[in-house]
Amino acid sequence: MKLSTLNTTRSGRVLLGTFWIGLYFVLTIGPLATIYLGHAPPGRGFWIELSVALGFIGLAMITMQFIITARIAGINGSYGIDVIYRFHRQISILSITLILIHPTLLFVADPARYLPLLRVWDAPLRAVFAWLALLGLITIAATSIWRVKLGLSYEAWRITHGILAVAVLGFALGHVLGVGHYLEQFWQRGMWLGMAVSVVLISSYVRLVKPVLMQRKPWCVINVTREHGRSWTVELEPEGHEGMRFQPGQFAWVTFGRSVWMVREHPFSFSSSAERSDRVAFTIKENGDFTNHIGKTKLGTVAYLDGPHGVFTIDRWAGVKGAVFVAGGVGMTPIMSMLRTLADRGDTRRFVLIYGCATWDEVTFRDELSQLKKQLDLNVVIVLDDPPENWDGEAGRIDKAVFNRHLREDRAELEYFICGPSAMMESVCDLLPTLGVPAERIEQEEFNLA
Ligand SMILES: Cc1cc2nc3c(=O)[nH]c(=O)nc-3n(C[C@H](O)[C@H](O)[C@H](O)COP(=O)(O)OP(=O)(O)OC[C@H]3O[C@@H](n4cnc5c(N)ncnc54)[C@H](O)[C@@H]3O)c2cc1C
Repeated sequence: MKLSTLNTTRSGRVLLGTFWIGLYFVLTIGPLATIYLGHAPPGRGFWIELSVALGFIGLAMITMQFIITARIAGINGSYGIDVIYRFHRQISILSITLILIHPTLLFVADPARYLPLLRVWDAPLRAVFAWLALLGLITIAATSIWRVKLGLSYEAWRITHGILAVAVLGFALGHVLGVGHYLEQFWQRGMWLGMAVSVVLISSYVRLVKPVLMQRKPWCVINVTREHGRSWTVELEPEGHEGMRFQPGQFAWVTFGRSVWMVREHPFSFSSSAERSDRVAFTIKENGDFTNHIGKTKLGTVAYLDGPHGVFTIDRWAGVKGAVFVAGGVGMTPIMSMLRTLADRGDTRRFVLIYGCATWDEVTFRDELSQLKKQLDLNVVIVLDDPPENWDGEAGRIDKAVFNRHLREDRAELEYFICGPSAMMESVCDLLPTLGVPAERIEQEEFNLA
């Protein structure tokens, strides 16, 4: 069965998700099992063997990190990009812990033999590689956790992260091959080198081949319009190609400027209708050093799109009775794309939009929402933190009472799409099951990957 077919039903997605997890375990634990195949050297005591095993698992996990973050559609499609990045972060912590335990156990088990390796200037090259790999890993962790405190821009962090990750893998492999224990057989060495080569090939595809393919399909900025809520809608038209088909709610990594090789690519959700692939729009909130200047983008600027990505889309749930969209601030953009698409398709299902904003002035798309109410069976509930005088709508937080006032008895049969600030998403995800909504009916998109 094709991956795309498996990806279209709820049970198919669970099956595919389970398959990827199974494959992950095989690829991280499998290399360890192979040390017992063929000739195994005599054991050196429990603690040393445990230390070596943890080192091997840690290395396999680090190798897999490249594949996890390679934007492979089949893998991302099973979980969603935010889940993938969360997994990436948690596995990083686990692998660093395993790798730190590896030398610690050696020092404790046989201090006379291993403690002298701390004298890096006297140590053999294989030990120097190990220290360099460890130093690289710790730097990766520190710059990721304290990026903002260290004053690193997102782009500088991303470049450093990529270079350090490749260096760590190289040093770690140098260490494992240099020690050579459990890698006496040619095929055992070949297996680790094969894993490293696969990683290099996948990374080269993402960093070198994909940009070349994108360069062949440039887009041109044809409109930049101010929206409420310090946001701008940037419309793009394909130049010399047929455009991009996407599902409403998906996003693309967008690079504005002449060269596709620039590191300044940012993920933005399509805000336009998916029924028009020949003209796409992104609605971008002023939120940092790049987005603060988005309103000054000149008409005619070239842009490149890497996409579509993401699974936050109503198109994956064709059979559902209706949907409840919960948006906070700029999290409205993927939902707007869904609403516009549903209107263009003449969808007759029942929809509820619960949209939280700080003030009335922050309500992006507010004029078009009134129009969409006429085209769709759509109940729009705007919840303002700080409402104007004589506001007769909802005010305060999006809480249980708001849902109870606007959802009907059939709430468990609807699909829920939540996108907004992390705190809002967490609280809505916690409270929906208490209202009888099954957890598997809740879809989320998080805008914060770093
Ligand atoms: C799936 C997804 C969809 C998104 N859709 C929209 C949208 O439709 N409209 C919108 O206004 N914003 C959207 N965002 C958020 C948007 O990508 C960031 O606000 C933007 O990249 C910030 O860039 P900056 O240089 O202005 O800010 P900075 O000051 O550099 O960064 C602010 C924060 O944005 C994040 N960020 C910055 N650059 C990147 C990057 N290249 N990749 C990932 N995260 C980054 C980091 O968490 C950073 O802390 C989306 C994010 C994601 C992950």
